[in-house]
Amino acid sequence: MIRLGTGEKEVFYSSSIHANEWINSVLMMKFIENYAKAYEKDEKIGNINARELFEKTSIYIAPMTNPDGVDLVLWQLPQNSRAFVNAKGIASGFPDIPFPNGWKANILGVDLNLQFPAEWEKAREIKFQQGFIRPAPRDFVGYRPLSEPEARALYELTLNHDFDLILAYHTQGKVIYWRFLNFKPEGAEALGKEFSRVSGYTLDDQLDNESYAGFRDFFIKEFDLPGYTIETGEGQNPLPITQFEQIYRDNVGILVLAANS
Ligand SMILES: [Zn+2]
Repeated sequence: MIRLGTGEKEVFYSSSIHANEWINSVLMMKFIENYAKAYEKDEKIGNINARELFEKTSIYIAPMTNPDGVDLVLWQLPQNSRAFVNAKGIASGFPDIPFPNGWKANILGVDLNLQFPAEWEKAREIKFQQGFIRPAPRDFVGYRPLSEPEARALYELTLNHDFDLILAYHTQGKVIYWRFLNFKPEGAEALGKEFSRVSGYTLDDQLDNESYAGFRDFFIKEFDLPGYTIETGEGQNPLPITQFEQIYRDNVGILVLAANS
């Protein structure tokens, strides 16, 4: 995790909790680089002076919350390593899911975005009915909430800070989600509309009945504060790196606005 800024206001951005959505890690790293350059040169990032934003807000960024899953999808694990052999064994039980391109879980086959204490039992019921009753390339909720160190790290980080809002980056669909259950955090819809305006992404007002136990779900349920899922890019995961420039252009406004709101 990196912290940008010294301001009292705290926000948190996370990406690549799903392994095959790694392109957003590049988005975060490029944002960090451009923000640092803008600060150094006393220039603007997005439409705001970087030094002003730096003093106002502390932006915490975890660019890759599922590193070993990303390594698997990008063929960075030696094929004779225990981790790779184990993952391949897990995947062989789910032949309809491409390997490794369809892999969303951590290296042990737990979907980290189904690990949080926000209707976890409901998520388990749904995913078990779909056949994900054991470690899998995606959609296995784990044997209990927060069983995985990556999920626990996000959980504890959130409890140990005073974040005003979070952004949870995923791919794909060019859509922004802001709701969870009946929660409507104050100002969340209005800011979501601003995000939609600066990115060109659609703000989705629907409740996703399939979405429970995610990191963002937990944040909203625990704090009743704005939390957004941003689904970048378009196509089939993992998105090709050729989409990166467009994804950056679409999202830099959101990344600045979320810190300046
Ligand atoms: Zn995702």
